[in-house]
Amino acid sequence: MRMVILGAPGAGKGTQARLLSTKYGAVHLSMGNLLRKEVSEQSEIGRSIRGTLSKGDMVEDEIVNMIVENQLQRYESVILDGYPRSLKQAQHLDSFLREQPPALDVVFLLELPVESVIERLSGRRICDRCSKTYHIQFYRLQHCSCGGRLIQREDDNPETIRHRMEVYEIEIGPIRDFYEKLGLLYPINAEQGMEDIFADMSAVLDRIILPKAT
Ligand SMILES: [Zn+2]
Repeated sequence: MRMVILGAPGAGKGTQARLLSTKYGAVHLSMGNLLRKEVSEQSEIGRSIRGTLSKGDMVEDEIVNMIVENQLQRYESVILDGYPRSLKQAQHLDSFLREQPPALDVVFLLELPVESVIERLSGRRICDRCSKTYHIQFYRLQHCSCGGRLIQREDDNPETIRHRMEVYEIEIGPIRDFYEKLGLLYPINAEQGMEDIFADMSAVLDRIILPKAT
């Protein structure tokens, strides 16, 4: 099974990807986490993208394409989260998967209004060890269940969030059209609670993926 989860920052892509990964046994590939790992390990790529990431800008296509290709060669069943982020990346992924099947089965789009995005992201905290996310409105923790420290992501301050939203709004239209034409796009209402979003996505997967397997 190969799927993409699209959606604004804070729409819950990571949370849903983690849940789906557990239920369907696919590897969760979070581009954000993969990039932040490069930064924290101070790799050559990490040093070159640190500034871009902290400003909330998009990392160069060549870099993210290369990271995704490496992962797709390693894992067959994947959930892509945070990639593709532009039409060019979507087209690149499409032609790459033609040479390295299987192709994508489904593309989810988590839809959430801008005001909700800002509200969610400014209260978001992330574990510095396992990358699990929490919201200060619901949790008043200092530490994650794994013992890691809960920190605010460098790109989760209100100014950067607004900028990331602008970038997102510009890019998402063409990506959406691209996948809609391919018949892969499934919009999901992300204003619902986490369980309801998960139930909607699971229903789609059970409908389109399980019949294929039999
Ligand atoms: Zn943790």
